[in-house]
Amino acid sequence: MWARLKLKNKILLLFLILSVLPLVLINGIWLRYSQDQLKQAAAEEQELLLNSIAQRINAVLDAQVNGVVSTSQDVDIAALNVEASRLRLLEFSNRENDAVRIALVDRDGNELVVVDDGALLQDLQNVTGTDAFRVVQLVSNKPLIGDVREVEGRPIVTISVPLLSQGNLGSQELTSTEALSRRFGGDIRGALIVDIDLTELWTLVLEAKLGDEGYMYLVDNAGQALVHPNQDVMSEQLNLSFVQEVQKVKEVLRAFNLEETVRSYEAVPVISESESGVSVLGSSFPISQTEWGLVALEPVSSVYGSVNRIALTAFIIFAVSIPLAIILVLIATKTVINPIRELADGVIRMSQGDFSRPIEARGNDELSVLARLFNNMADNLRALLERIRAKNVSLLAEQAKLQAVLDTIADGVIVLDHEQNIVLSNKTMASFVNAQDQSALRGKNWLNVFTLYYEDEPFNSDLLKGDTVYFHDVLMRVGDEQKFIDITAIRILNDPNGIVFILTVQDTTPRRELENMKLDFVSMAAHELRTPLTAISGYLKLINDDETSNEERESFTNLANSNANMLESLINNMLSLSRIERNALVVHKKPVNWSELVREEVESLKFMASTRNIEMEVELPEEPLKVWGDAIALREVLANLINNAVHYSEDNQKVLIKAEQVDDTIKTTVSDHGIGIPERLHSKLFTKYYRAKGGLATNSQGTGIGLFISKSIIDAHGGSINFDSTFGQGSDFYFSVEAYDRNKHRQSESGGDTIGESSNVDWFKK
Ligand code: ADP
Repeated sequence: MWARLKLKNKILLLFLILSVLPLVLINGIWLRYSQDQLKQAAAEEQELLLNSIAQRINAVLDAQVNGVVSTSQDVDIAALNVEASRLRLLEFSNRENDAVRIALVDRDGNELVVVDDGALLQDLQNVTGTDAFRVVQLVSNKPLIGDVREVEGRPIVTISVPLLSQGNLGSQELTSTEALSRRFGGDIRGALIVDIDLTELWTLVLEAKLGDEGYMYLVDNAGQALVHPNQDVMSEQLNLSFVQEVQKVKEVLRAFNLEETVRSYEAVPVISESESGVSVLGSSFPISQTEWGLVALEPVSSVYGSVNRIALTAFIIFAVSIPLAIILVLIATKTVINPIRELADGVIRMSQGDFSRPIEARGNDELSVLARLFNNMADNLRALLERIRAKNVSLLAEQAKLQAVLDTIADGVIVLDHEQNIVLSNKTMASFVNAQDQSALRGKNWLNVFTLYYEDEPFNSDLLKGDTVYFHDVLMRVGDEQKFIDITAIRILNDPNGIVFILTVQDTTPRRELENMKLDFVSMAAHELRTPLTAISGYLKLINDDETSNEERESFTNLANSNANMLESLINNMLSLSRIERNALVVHKKPVNWSELVREEVESLKFMASTRNIEMEVELPEEPLKVWGDAIALREVLANLINNAVHYSEDNQKVLIKAEQVDDTIKTTVSDHGIGIPERLHSKLFTKYYRAKGGLATNSQGTGIGLFISKSIIDAHGGSINFDSTFGQGSDFYFSVEAYDRNKHRQSESGGDTIGESSNVDWFKK
């Protein structure tokens, strides 16, 4: 997770963790602590204030009640002495400002004296039905305190005290109604009923200051609000029993001995809810005299007001400063990250081989130093790269040279690595498998490229043992063809380029074929020589036979002669071949009457042709044709072509011998309608010992050297020899040699005879 974050976010997160988090935590703890402190202080203050105000109310009410009680115990008043009572009550009224109406009532409820606002009232009434008068019937020496009511906008409470006869007043407190009735029953003369103005007490309650928003109010023992700062509560005469503190004080007020309870009562402020549903710190205190409850409430918000204000200020400061700080951090990170980015871009550029732009390095911080170091490194790298490139170029040149040298080698060469894969090869090697170029072989295992058999088994790579190994007559298969090769394998030790073997491969197929053809030639030549010789000796015997007729004798002589001709031409051929092989073929050019030579040659072969009923036709221009050449050699060529034409014709066919002048050459053509030559063999016909095999030359005699010799002779003359042939239809063999031009050739002539063979004795040069 952390690793996947971008640097910017990491710094931001670190900033938040290191600075903001502690601040927030400290603030939270401080807030909590301060709130506790404030709450405690507020509770103490509230407790103090509540206690003091409650004590004061208790004290004021006690004083009021005591005042009324002690006045009621005045002799004149107790004796219902009206005159004296007037004075006493006026004095009392003067003394007690809060006693707004003081009435002396007899036991029948008749008002005897009434002091209203410090003045005697004349209009006296009977108060039998009033609440206050009930004190007379209660048979108690205890004052009766009535409900609070509002009179002319002032809160008024009525205290009524029974008037008892003097003698029965005792210090003894009686608790039983029965006892009281027994003791005082007949002695209650009337009552002193005093209306007390509570305005001062109310002001005391209303003006009590509890923090900023705290307040106090009084409820009676039924939970009814007596004085409350909220006018609505007062005007609606709300019962506040639902308020927790009111409930609490109501419970206390129910205590059996209230005064005792109040004396030891301790108000403990706790958090509760106010009548308006606000969370408050509240406490209450009972007023024993009147059975009221004093309630103090201070909203928690007000308790925590100061600290909350500080917290709010802190929050605002946070709210403003954190985004600001984040922006600053972002700006700061940018100043750090941008150079890093530039650095990264630079690295990418350089990794792609672009050293043209260095990384910008402003300032002196660590990143700039790094950028500068990086630029230095890039410079070094570039220099190194250039050196390597230069080296590479020379290496490539070396390689090209090596390849060129390898390609000039006529033998195949392959270089193998330790896995016997081809590292290098030459053109000859590629040509063995008809590959376009040697790069097609690179990287392949050589035994997958070349199919080799050695001693009738597939060539095994394990055979490459020892430092130099020779393999003769290895068979190589390429498609349908097969070649014979000799392999020389040389092991290279510790080559830094991983070269392990260098193999040179020699194609021995042509040599083998030549050897085979030579062998064929020898057996054919022996056969060819023997046949006419056997025939000649046979005919000679028949000629000498006495039973042979003259006609027969002439025929046998012709036959013997024809066979002798064949023998001669055969021997001529063999001699020529030997000359050619010895490079001793020299032609002595002289003017030759070619028309005559052709006729003579045809004449000498006519008999041979006639034995197979083959007619020979000669086509010559009227003007004798003259060639510039060696008569004996050219006659051999002509004899070869005519012999072949007869030889490869069917019986009864025709052979045409034609000579003509074409420009400054004499072209001689020998045409037959024989077996013809298949297209695919055309290119091989003039090769030494070549004899078309198969159906074409089945049973044919011959040595396969005739055309080879003919071509050699014509080439020596600077002429040309060729043929047109359609398989199964016949062949036209033709050759052209220079025509004799008197003007041109005169100087070269060595004089003597212009025609005939006698001058060409040099032909048989030894
Ligand atoms: P060969 O002694 O076998 O005739 P050549 O060199 O004269 O030797 O001829 C080579 C081969 O060419 C022959 O074996 C034959 O197959 C073919 N050939 C030569 N001349 C003809 C021809 N006129 N018609 C058909 N095939 C010919």
